[in-house]
Amino acid sequence: MAGILVIAERKDLAWELLNIGRQLASQVATTLTAAVTGQEDNAQNHIARGADEVLLMSTLPEGQAFDAWIPVIAAEAKKADPDMILLAATARGKDFAARLAAHLGTGLCSNCIALSRGEDGTVVMERLAYGGAAVQQVSCVTRPVMATIPTRTFAPAPADHSRSGEIRKLSLPSPSPVRIVARKVKERSSQDITEAKVVVCVGRGMEKEEDIHIARQLADLVRGEIGCTRPISEELHWLPDDLCIGLSGVQVKPDLYIGLGVSGQIQHVTGIRGARVICAVNKDENAPIFQAADLGIVGDLYDVTPKLIEELQKATRR
Ligand SMILES: Cc1cc2nc3c(=O)[nH]c(=O)nc-3n(C[C@H](O)[C@H](O)[C@H](O)COP(=O)(O)OP(=O)(O)OC[C@H]3O[C@@H](n4cnc5c(N)ncnc54)[C@H](O)[C@@H]3O)c2cc1C
Repeated sequence: MAGILVIAERKDLAWELLNIGRQLASQVATTLTAAVTGQEDNAQNHIARGADEVLLMSTLPEGQAFDAWIPVIAAEAKKADPDMILLAATARGKDFAARLAAHLGTGLCSNCIALSRGEDGTVVMERLAYGGAAVQQVSCVTRPVMATIPTRTFAPAPADHSRSGEIRKLSLPSPSPVRIVARKVKERSSQDITEAKVVVCVGRGMEKEEDIHIARQLADLVRGEIGCTRPISEELHWLPDDLCIGLSGVQVKPDLYIGLGVSGQIQHVTGIRGARVICAVNKDENAPIFQAADLGIVGDLYDVTPKLIEELQKATRR
């Protein structure tokens, strides 16, 4: 194996990729290289988290797009001939990965959620198919094997500051034909539910927009955040899109997920698989959410939630 290359535009993404990259590299005693944006002091952190070599992509002049790095990274990859290249499945990462794969004439497994080595030594990659109802196994017949990995699929690699490695600063690329003419911050809700320890999810069982305050009250009591199913954000517009959990939304990994009036369709459950405890309140005892739940309450959310709130209030007063 000639090595594994991870490419990341942010250090938190780099650390997640370094985690799986290190695991794969250790299995076949190969090297792990990280091509990352940032300054030299950050590079040492990437070495501590598993990189043997860091290729630093320094800040581009104003107006230059990140894709200017594609020919530079493609040239590095052709020279080093890695067996595998991993990127984060962010909007920028996916765009970069597809174009890099075209430069290298290789295939790409997008949204890969697991990687392992098959018996014959090939890398087996897994991705969800049919809206999350099936897991597809992919192995690539061209090299390098390339994959994009959704954020938070792997935890950040732990740091070991006794590790050493090389740091190489890449020369600034030629300007890309894509120029950034303006930057506009995307409107987002103030919460980041992907980091929340408790998520209270509002489902279509909620009858009116103003009833969301019940879920909010419960979330406040358990220091949690509000999330929702797709109909709540996309069809009813009661909550912003970035609070939608599932296949077309975000994946959450809280210690506790509480679904209020959520049916538990596969496209939603895909986004809560990482929760440690799933609790569901649904008036239909046959709702599929109960198959995914650790704790299920069959009942009307308008009866059950106020009772939960009351008991929690009593507990916090004690
Ligand atoms: C390609 C694709 C991608 C998708 N991506 C996503 C995604 O990312 N996230 C997502 O959430 N969905 C997604 N969906 C939609 C998904 O299939 C479901 O339609 C959706 O998750 C259902 O949302 P829900 O549970 O809120 O509503 P419903 O399915 O309508 O369920 C409402 C539930 O509330 C219960 N209920 C009603 N009244 C009460 C009450 N008073 N008390 C207690 N329970 C009550 C009902 O018994 C029912 O089970 C996607 C679909 C497709 C095709």
